[in-house]
Amino acid sequence: MHRISSAYVGEWPITWSPSVTLVPTRFCFNSCGYCSFRRPPDGLDPLADGLSDPQAQAALRLRPWAAEVLLLSGEVPPGSPQRRAWFSRLLALSRLAWTEGRLPHTNAGPLSIAEMASLGRFNGSMGLMLEGLGPAYDALHRQSPSKRLAVRLGQLEQAGRLGIPFTTGLLLGVGESEADRLAALELLAQLQRRWGHLQEVILQPFRPDADAALLLNATEQADLLGTIAAARSILPPEVHLQLPPNLWPLQELPAALAAGIDDLGGIDSSDVINRAYPQPTPGQLAEVLAQAGYELTPRLCVHQAWRRCLPLAMQRQALRAESRLLASKPSGLRSPWP
Ligand code: SF4
Repeated sequence: MHRISSAYVGEWPITWSPSVTLVPTRFCFNSCGYCSFRRPPDGLDPLADGLSDPQAQAALRLRPWAAEVLLLSGEVPPGSPQRRAWFSRLLALSRLAWTEGRLPHTNAGPLSIAEMASLGRFNGSMGLMLEGLGPAYDALHRQSPSKRLAVRLGQLEQAGRLGIPFTTGLLLGVGESEADRLAALELLAQLQRRWGHLQEVILQPFRPDADAALLLNATEQADLLGTIAAARSILPPEVHLQLPPNLWPLQELPAALAAGIDDLGGIDSSDVINRAYPQPTPGQLAEVLAQAGYELTPRLCVHQAWRRCLPLAMQRQALRAESRLLASKPSGLRSPWP
């Protein structure tokens, strides 16, 4: 595991995960104040808008180099008669991705320990945002039972107990104080020291969607750069810090890397959550990074240091997926990736 300090600028690669996103359903029983992804409960089958297997296979084949399959789903509540069908669909799509030689990464809200363990057999890593703590989040999540801090922390603990390589993160810029941000980072640091399973923490700026879409201004960038630096000093050094590159001005990316970001996350051709913010292409990212002395390098959804935590069958799947990924690695900017 590498150590991170301000002396690292340009010294090692910045990673990203070539990814394809599958959405089992946009139905969600929560109602977060900022969400533009959700389909409200409308009396229809929660899976009515879901992907069929042929649709999922077609999506995978459109992106043959994408080693990561992000399963991103709205949530059916525990105890609902529809929960079993919803969970079966997550499991079936994970298996389908596995049989196509990919590594699924599921982010579908809180799971029971049996559900998480079951998905863990087919997922290279899993994820759940902590989001944050304090009154700003309480207000936004008043109608979102699964976003309660105790529920989120319980899930992160559970993943640690199961030894699942895990991605979490903070949603920043929703009215929280600096003290709230630091307290949230301290909680994540404690979890990592206890369980060692947090492979990456996403520092995600909240951005308005649709017609209100707007990139961060200079003041907002400076504010986030301070939080990135704080995260780098609070979190154990093995935890990667991730910034979604479509939510940050492309030409300013080197400043975020200098502050401590070392990963750009899973990148599909579009962002199904922040739809108004187009993804930069890997070629565009590589060019901006190269000008600042960094190298952009593809990775799997599970970071290298956490692969030994996976079951043996998954480690073998990761090796095969990595071989294919490296075989498609571009030389310079002559990339088979769009
Ligand atoms: S839990 Fe996720 S999908 Fe559901 S309302 Fe909140 S942000 Fe939207």
